[in-house]
Amino acid sequence: MSRIDPHAHTLRSDGTDTPAELVLAAKIAGLDYVGITDHDTTSGWQEAVEAAELHGVGLIRGVEVSAQLQGQSVHILALLIEPGVMDALFSDSTDSRRRRLEQMVANVAADYPLVSLEAILDAAAGAPLGRPHLADELVDKGYFPHRNATFEAVLHETGPYYVRQEVPHPLAVVRLIREAGGVPILAHPLSSTRGSTVPEDLIAQMSEAGLFGIERDHRDHTAAGREEVERLARRHALAISGGSDYHGRGKPNKLGENLMDPYILSQVEEQGKLEVIRR
Ligand code: AMP
Ligand code: ZN
Ligand code: FE
Ligand code: FE
Repeated sequence: MSRIDPHAHTLRSDGTDTPAELVLAAKIAGLDYVGITDHDTTSGWQEAVEAAELHGVGLIRGVEVSAQLQGQSVHILALLIEPGVMDALFSDSTDSRRRRLEQMVANVAADYPLVSLEAILDAAAGAPLGRPHLADELVDKGYFPHRNATFEAVLHETGPYYVRQEVPHPLAVVRLIREAGGVPILAHPLSSTRGSTVPEDLIAQMSEAGLFGIERDHRDHTAAGREEVERLARRHALAISGGSDYHGRGKPNKLGENLMDPYILSQVEEQGKLEVIRR
């Protein structure tokens, strides 16, 4: 039975591996397929495709698209979208992520004066900016030992430094993903680390708008949360997915720690515009 981990990040967003390193790490982890799903960008796809062909690893090209509902962040995986079709959205989200992070940097720098926007921009090298980039700067300047400590002490949603992301409504994002020939999967809907969880009436509306699946197996979901996702999936006719949400050294998540069922991948491929790259 194929081992499929469709949700992982590289340094093209807020992970720490290059796309080629991600593919190699997937091979070492014994995966048959890995998804490259950076936040709001496809910039890692080409390097990942070349590495997948070189190393004989299956590859699912995707993006984790940022959405928000009344300031609450909602993440939607867009698998197998046609290249280019969603670029305007990604470019808007990248701009708004940058303005938002500049505000957060200003807030944080008032209390952590060594934090420098310039250093963050240099390190990010054009990647869509997120709190992990600011976290790395706080670690770099010696304030905290690792990303997680900065989230707990400084960067969490309920803290005084937090600024929301101005990105589209989840229903708009689901529709755009379908228009781009992609397959939308709601990521970590019950992640408790995000303050609040995605409400059921929104999930119902997203399903009507074309949502394909929902992540059940994710590190941020408790056993009870997974049962709740199963109920939501049955009730709203959604496929069940899972994935590691690997971020390299940025998080403890290990490639392959949560997986997608091969039958679900075959459905994704039937509905998606792009092919899955086989090994
Ligand atoms: P943002 O897009 O700026 O809202 O930041 C969200 C990103 O931060 C997500 O991709 C998470 O993977 C990452 N993140 C959230 N909490 C933590 C944490 N405690 N440690 C490391 N990364 C985190
Ligand atoms: Zn991330
Ligand atoms: Fe996410
Ligand atoms: Fe993710």
